[in-house]
Order: sequence, then structure tokens, then C-alpha cells
Amino acid sequence: MAATSSSTRHVQPAPEKPPEAVMERPSLATRIRQSAPTFVVVAGLVALAVWGQRTDWTLPKFSALFGGAPEEASDWCDEHNVPESQCVECNPKLMPVAKDYGWCSAHGVMQCPLEHPDVVQLNARPTITPAMLERAQRAIALRPRAENNSRCNLHLKRIQFASLESIEKVGVDIALTAERPIVESIVANGEIGFDQTRLAHFSSRVPGTIWRVEKQVGDRVQKGDVLAFIDGAEVGRLKSELLQALSQVRLKQDNLERLRPLAGSVIPARELVEAQADADAAYIQLHRAQQALVNLGLPLDANELAGLNADQLARQIQLLGLPADLANGPNAGTLSSNLLPVRSSLDGVVVERRAVDGEVVDVKSQLFDVADTSHLWLMLNVRQEDAKYLALGQKTLFRTSSSQTDMESKGAVSWISPNADDVTRMVKVRVDLANADGRLRANTFGTGHIILREEPKAVVVPNEAIHWDGTCSIVFVRDKDFMKADSPKVFHVRSVRTGVKENGATEIVAGLLPGEIVASKNSVVLEAQLLKSSLGAGCACCQGK
Ligand SMILES: [Zn+2]
Ligand SMILES: [Zn+2]
Repeated sequence: MAATSSSTRHVQPAPEKPPEAVMERPSLATRIRQSAPTFVVVAGLVALAVWGQRTDWTLPKFSALFGGAPEEASDWCDEHNVPESQCVECNPKLMPVAKDYGWCSAHGVMQCPLEHPDVVQLNARPTITPAMLERAQRAIALRPRAENNSRCNLHLKRIQFASLESIEKVGVDIALTAERPIVESIVANGEIGFDQTRLAHFSSRVPGTIWRVEKQVGDRVQKGDVLAFIDGAEVGRLKSELLQALSQVRLKQDNLERLRPLAGSVIPARELVEAQADADAAYIQLHRAQQALVNLGLPLDANELAGLNADQLARQIQLLGLPADLANGPNAGTLSSNLLPVRSSLDGVVVERRAVDGEVVDVKSQLFDVADTSHLWLMLNVRQEDAKYLALGQKTLFRTSSSQTDMESKGAVSWISPNADDVTRMVKVRVDLANADGRLRANTFGTGHIILREEPKAVVVPNEAIHWDGTCSIVFVRDKDFMKADSPKVFHVRSVRTGVKENGATEIVAGLLPGEIVASKNSVVLEAQLLKSSLGAGCACCQGK
């Protein structure tokens, strides 16, 4: 009852909005755009609060922060947090505003130093070399990178401190924009396996039992080395067929030779023809028996056997295919004629042995795996979105997951799968790894870096120097006259295009030149001041656009 009454109470029609209100309602996109600056400011202040929490630093009044408490309240610029008389924004003569070159579409930054070297904060005007331009071009051409908004006007801003002491007080550190080697790569997990062109499985060519196993797992073998001997009745049978065929050939050939001078006079010519046919048939039979043994890996030259007597012939055939140490050994006479050696067809290492003495085997039993481990295959799983940057021959570094050192194996991409995996949707990439020292092992996992770009002299700054305001990446560049006694303590906001992040540093594709000094640790303080001044005058970015 109560439920019914309560539900009845709630079913009250909502008052309809007047149609014009619906019409004027801003779109979602517009609302997001309008609230973006506020969001950015709030996000910045939250970041500052979090940082403060971690470093036991509480947000002081900006006046205390940037100038120290001013003695004379009248000489204080609230907006820029410096004494009014020193404020470069309020007294442009103290530091004239630099010429605004605007947007560089080639490099995606405002005030591009690569086109306008006069914008940099260096005492000597730098020379832009073709190598610097090519380096930026390589980075941009390789793959899409974080874009700056072409209407971001933060580069016009400057952050001023009242004195060196006030900077020290808030703990803003500086870093030199440096040149150092960086590598841009696709990172992918993978597994090492045997080179399938250098791996062989060995089995017996006849059914039988294993007479003796000769090699163990880990043994190094040369091409032709015996891995095991098989005792197979089939071998003995084929050998006796061969002996029989040999004796038939001798018999039929002798007969033919005896009849040849008699043909046409003493005996009819037909008999010679028949004798010739018998000899031919015996030869065919010999050839067949010989071929059957060749198929088992027991080649023999019938001509070599021609001069042997029956005993010698039988002994020769009995020991056919056996290695010299066994064939010439003291017990050679007692050896079975059924023995068939299983030989390796390549140089390598026995990586698997399934054969056991006395075991019954057939032609399907895989007895040994031998692999040449001087080259291994690395199979990497590359994400589909990275696959378009792959090319054959790309240098690859690989480190096993168990590796405690920086030792890496080098290889080159040798195959790229034309399709993605059904289940993982990853693209398989094969890398040939040289392993002459045998350090790498098959079936081990690790991480591969397929190298897309190697820059020996990339421009880098510490990660903490870079700030993203929601539309563009910026750094705070120290004024070139900063350390001069009477010059204003100013950091210039510079728009930058970032590249690779590596070991705590970020590559600057464009926006900074080597030698410039940027605010690094605690530069969030400058960002906070930038946000504060933006808050006063609306969003600095895209202002008035
Ligand atoms: Zn001012
Ligand atoms: Zn440019």
C-alpha cells in the first residue's frame, strides 16, 4: 500500500520547458569548450595541491612566493606578483616584448626557433644547420605525434620573479637543454625459438629396435655423426637381396660372355639374345636392390664390389654403412647385418633425445632433434597499430626477461606476418638473432625493441620541464640575461613539440635549441602562476579567437 502511494506521488509530470529554451540550449561540444579553461585551471590547482601534499609544501600567497612579502604595499603588481616598479608586463620598457612570429605549420609550434633563431634565449645567435632541420623532419615524418593547438597563445606569456632568493625559496630547479642520443622503437614481447631452417628431427627409416644410443642431449654433433643404431630385420633382408642380385649378375654375365663367340655357328642366335635379356634383368634387379639400400641411407658403389670374392662381398655388405670404428673393431665379425645408423644431417646440438636402448621404434618415432643454435629466431608480437611502421631489415634489440644486465642481443627483422593472429590480434614479426656464444636459449621470453629512428644528437629536457595545458605543450625558458645583476628574473613560456620519452627525458622535436635553460623540478610553480594570470584575464590560450 505504502509503495503504491509513494510511487503515485512520484509520477508527477515534469513541467515542460518552453521551446525557445530548448532551442538555445548549447550543444555538448560548446559546453565542453566553454568549461575547458575552468577545467584546466582546476586540474592545475589540483596537481599543485597533490604535489604540495607530497613535498610538504603548502600553497603560499603568490605575493610571498614570487616576491617575498612586499614592504610597501603600494609598489606591488598583484596580477604579476612582483613589485610594480619591476614588473616587465606593466612596464614593457624594462623588457620589450619579443616579436611574435606566430604558428609554424612545418614543426607545429608557435615562435619556432628553427625558422627564427632570434627567439631563443641564448647570448649568441645560434646557427640552424640543415642537420637540425632534417632531424626535426625525420621525427615528424615517422609517425603522428602530440599536436599543439595552432591558436595557443601561451608563448606570449612571461613569468617573473622578484629576486633570485624568491626562486630559491620555492625550489624551482633548472636544466640545460642538451643534445644526446635517443632511440625511437616499437616495443614488443616475444619468444626465442630455434631457427626452423636449422632444426632437424631424426627418426629411423625402418621399423626395429634401438641397438645403441650414441648421443645425449647437449652433445655437439657434426653433419654425418651417428646418433643411434637401429636393428631392423628389413635392413638384413635388403642386404641379402643385394647379395643375391650381385651373384645373379655375375652368373648371367658369365653365361653371356661364354655364349657370345658361339652364337650363329654352334648355337642359335636366339640363345644369345635370351642370355643378353637374362643379364639385363639381373642388372635391373641389382640396381633395384642397390636403390633400396640407398633409400635407407646406405649408398654403395657396385663397381667397387666387382673384384671381391663371395666371402669378402658378404662381409662388405654386412658392415655396410657402419662407421669405421665399429666396422674395423674386434667384434666386427659378430655384428648383425641388420644394423642401420641414424645420422645427423647438420652441424648442431642434440636438443631432444627420445631414443632409449632396446626400445621398439617405427618410422614415425622421432628419436632426436638436432638444432644449429648459432642462429635463433625471435618471434615478436607487435600491436596492429604499430605494424605499419615495420620494415624488413629493421635493427632489433632483445633482452630476455630473466636478464639482470644491460646485455642485449642484436638482430634484424627478417619476416613480417601478412595477417594478424586470430586470437591476440597481434602481428607476428620474426627477427634473426646471432647466437655464436650460445648465450640465448630457445623458449625464453623477453622484450624486443624494433628500432625506427636513431638520433645521435636529439634535443632533450627532463620530463618535468614539460607541461601540457590542455591544448599545447609548453616549457619555461630562463631569460638569457637572468643572471645579470639588474635584469628582471623572467622565464619565457615557449611552445614545444615533443617526441620520444626515454629515461626521464623528453625529446624536443621543435621549440628549444641546445644550450637554453629551462625550469625543471618544481616548474609546476610557474605553471600555477601562468594559470593564475590566465584566470584573471580569461584563458590565455585562444584568447580573443
Ligand atoms: Zn604587472
Ligand atoms: Zn618551424
